[in-house]
Amino acid sequence: MSSFKSKYEDELIANAAYIGSPGKGILAADESTGTIGKRFASINVENVEANRRTLRELLFTAPGCLDCLSGVILFEETLYQKTAAGVPFVDVLKKAGVLPGIKVDKGTVELAGTNGETTTQGLDDLGQRCKKYYEAGARFAKWRAVLKIGPNEPSPLSIHENAYGLARYAVICQENGLVPIVEPEILVDGPHDIAKCADVTERVLAACYKALSDHHVLLEGTLLKPNMVTPGSDSPKVAPEVIAQHTVRALLRTVPAAVPAIVFLSGGQSEEEASVNLNAMNKLKGKKPWTLTFSYGRALQQSTLKAWGGKDENIPKAQAALLVRCKANSEATLGTYQGNANLGDGASESLHVKDYKY
Ligand code: 13P
Repeated sequence: MSSFKSKYEDELIANAAYIGSPGKGILAADESTGTIGKRFASINVENVEANRRTLRELLFTAPGCLDCLSGVILFEETLYQKTAAGVPFVDVLKKAGVLPGIKVDKGTVELAGTNGETTTQGLDDLGQRCKKYYEAGARFAKWRAVLKIGPNEPSPLSIHENAYGLARYAVICQENGLVPIVEPEILVDGPHDIAKCADVTERVLAACYKALSDHHVLLEGTLLKPNMVTPGSDSPKVAPEVIAQHTVRALLRTVPAAVPAIVFLSGGQSEEEASVNLNAMNKLKGKKPWTLTFSYGRALQQSTLKAWGGKDENIPKAQAALLVRCKANSEATLGTYQGNANLGDGASESLHVKDYKY
């Protein structure tokens, strides 16, 4: 028995499995105040609480969208916000059968002596914060570790440090009733090919599961949020089927079958690419012991943001854009997405930003 005994064990297992329900996935709406400011700047909207609240209300009340979701990740501010009519966002989500989640990391800092590699902060008071977030209705959490591919990166130090940070975070979440999403994001930046990304992804994931085992984490009560295995951003693109084969093979080699679901990040892919790649993985024949679904931020919100542009009169149009993406990704979890849901405003645009900070 290597996993510790949490009083929340049954609940953790049930919630993690629920998030992986076929046909559903996660909306990552947990942009920190700084990050949402960058999104707002791109549509000329002022970064003030009222606008952040309006955007989140638009997302959480968009007709039909919550039916495609099993979870929404929130930033702390949003966890305590309400609709204009005074209903807590947490209640809006729960009523629709969508679990509220919370971003609990405090961003990254550089690891001294490395070529710009990072570690993620936020462990010190994490137990107390998790307890508070659980009381406020959160049932899962996210912690983003960031690794990069370079001539000598990721270094053994960065792999070790980030794997053990994620494991320590995961067990603290489980002690406090939150399902941890383990997110070791390997950035797409660089000229490397898909084979290099596959190699690095396998090494990073193998290190993460060794660390999770060492920390007695209950794997059945966790989720993995990895990057897809793709060529670097400065390399020619490959077909979705090639991404699907490389990604599923890397996961089969490293992610235990005890993990109920793998919830991909979009990592700068366009909305359409993210849907088509997920669909290709779910269409792929062969052994897949976990559900493969989405936990997209940029790839769910880009066309919605553009359609909204900060104007109340555009809210219905923006909500319709969100529904297009939610449905496309819901179908992609079943391998039934036909593609080209809407190549209108922004859906095929690359969302890649070098050295992206969430
Ligand atoms: P993207 O889908 O925009 O990469 O973001 C998902 C996320 O939550 C990153 O931590």
